[in-house]
Amino acid sequence: MTKIKIEKKYRTAINDLIIYLKNSKFLTDEKVESALQNIPRHEFVPESELEYAYDNEPLPIMKNQTISQPGVVTRMTEWLDIKNGQNILEIGTGSGWQSAILSYLVGSGTIYSIERHPELAKFAQENLKKLKIDNVHVILGDGTLGYSQASPYDRIIITAACTEIPLPLLDQLSENGLIIAPVGGSSQSLVLLQKTPKEIVEIKNQSKYVFVPLVGKFGKK
Ligand code: SAM
Repeated sequence: MTKIKIEKKYRTAINDLIIYLKNSKFLTDEKVESALQNIPRHEFVPESELEYAYDNEPLPIMKNQTISQPGVVTRMTEWLDIKNGQNILEIGTGSGWQSAILSYLVGSGTIYSIERHPELAKFAQENLKKLKIDNVHVILGDGTLGYSQASPYDRIIITAACTEIPLPLLDQLSENGLIIAPVGGSSQSLVLLQKTPKEIVEIKNQSKYVFVPLVGKFGKK
């Protein structure tokens, strides 16, 4: 990936955010820290939100959706334990920031990211293009169906709240692959599951997260 030049005021804000995330244990992994240094969040927020780009808060993007809170993005990314060369599926592209972070970590691998709102799919594509990121394919559609054409996936990340993990996504996960999702009602638990040859095993579970809903055929009714 081409290294992009980041203005000094934003560099300082990124460093301050990193200190905060480390102190609050949302960030513990050096590779994820490096992704945060190199994928500037201010390139993924609307102009009206620029001054808040490095607050640890979700921010409005379009269509009543949000770019997720940095601490939640770093935690989900760390739990996913991304390796170079992996094939990854993301449900809920939003601004494209999470996709860009995955793209940085996956190196020669590929990200397929599904978004249901055409305006957001376009917004994300434009943001990714600014950073010359070419290993993220943004797909317009219902992410609860997955994207079987490019399956199986080593990792799947759902960035919207579901009451249960959509079955097509479990089908499209590779053997020993990991899937992460916020699961629950108005408050959700972040759940990390692994698909073993025999069953789906829960690896991690942490409560008290709030995401926008995952809608669609296998989403919230
Ligand atoms: N990861 C994003 C980022 O870095 O900006 C934030 C994602 S936002 C919290 C959740 C996204 O999921 C929204 O953009 C929403 O439109 C999308 N979404 C909800 N249900 C969906 C579905 N069935 N298929 C695809 N996208 C969906």
